[in-house]
Amino acid sequence: MSHELEIRLRGPEGFGLARKAIEEMERHRIWPTSLNFELWIHFLAAPNAPLGQEMTRMLSAGTAFTDQVSEELAALYLPKAKLNEQIRDTGDQLSRELASVSAAIDSAKQSSKAYGLTLATASQSLAAEKDVASLEATVKTLAGATQRVQLENQSLEKRLSESSSEVARLREHLELVRREATTDGLTNLANRKAFDEELERACLEADAGRGCLTLALIDIDHFKGFNDTWGHQTGDQVIRYVASVIGRVGATPRMAARYGGEEFALIFPNEDRQAASVALEEIREEIGSRVLKRRSTNEDLGNITVSAGFAERHPGESAHSLMERADAALYASKHGGRNRVSMAEPLSDAA
Ligand code: GH3
Ligand code: MG
Ligand code: MG
Repeated sequence: MSHELEIRLRGPEGFGLARKAIEEMERHRIWPTSLNFELWIHFLAAPNAPLGQEMTRMLSAGTAFTDQVSEELAALYLPKAKLNEQIRDTGDQLSRELASVSAAIDSAKQSSKAYGLTLATASQSLAAEKDVASLEATVKTLAGATQRVQLENQSLEKRLSESSSEVARLREHLELVRREATTDGLTNLANRKAFDEELERACLEADAGRGCLTLALIDIDHFKGFNDTWGHQTGDQVIRYVASVIGRVGATPRMAARYGGEEFALIFPNEDRQAASVALEEIREEIGSRVLKRRSTNEDLGNITVSAGFAERHPGESAHSLMERADAALYASKHGGRNRVSMAEPLSDAA
């Protein structure tokens, strides 16, 4: 409802408009829903405005004011959220939908309140009327209409609340699907797909903010032998343990991922080689110093160690080149005897 119209409705003219709207709706056999009431109030307040002209045309053409027709009119001429939009179950559409549904609930509440208020005041003013019979009849009509509108609004509210929670459910589901698609099932770290995307994003961000960026690759040493000795399932437990340490050190704003079988990757946004080196040494030491036990039998599994390689990004360097340098550094750690952390060679001028 426009501000100007609201002022008029709250003034002395309001009683007349409200009563006239009820009368006119009854005359045309229009169901007094809050929406129709609002349409008629606008119509009577400004018969020559576009809405008024359209309604005059429809009435003389004998058009039936079904719910759908009224909603279409409201959508075209009344400035408020459209109630009938399809709920779609994707991305932003969901958020926008959720916002518009809540807005519709609010607006329904408000129009119901305004309607009730106007009718209540109207019936008070009618008390001044002389003719008791017509007074009673009018008040009865008003009261009945109010009750119907309130019922209609209750069901509207219910419907909107339902679709609102449906949207919330869909959004949760979407979030779950998204998380499943980007998470590694064994370790709960980010998977390779999420890592690849994040590395590209981090490179762009580093260029935009002129910040530094360091990338590390970590690989479990002699893991094939470990699997051969203790079995794949125990191997999986070790991968989970290693992932838990890397995940803890690589918590946000860093990003830890399981890059492949027993290989992990760590992104250090806005951190240089010194910071990364400290973090990687912490990981290496913690894993290497822990004596592993087999859960089921409490057997001593000895120690496992990891090797790591890291590279600090040069401005403008591609994700691919950064990966290659970190991988070469990892290879150097393996060749140097494993259980160590190596820093990549700087990018050569030729590259
Ligand atoms: P290196 O020190 O050179 O890295 O030796 P390695 O034996 O760890 O390296 P290699 O790449 O030859 O073997 C990796 C092994 O990791 C092969 C496979 O047995 C094991 N592996 C890979 N993915 C998984 C997994 O998901 N679960 C288990 N249990 N083992 C895995
Ligand atoms: Mg290995
Ligand atoms: Mg490997």
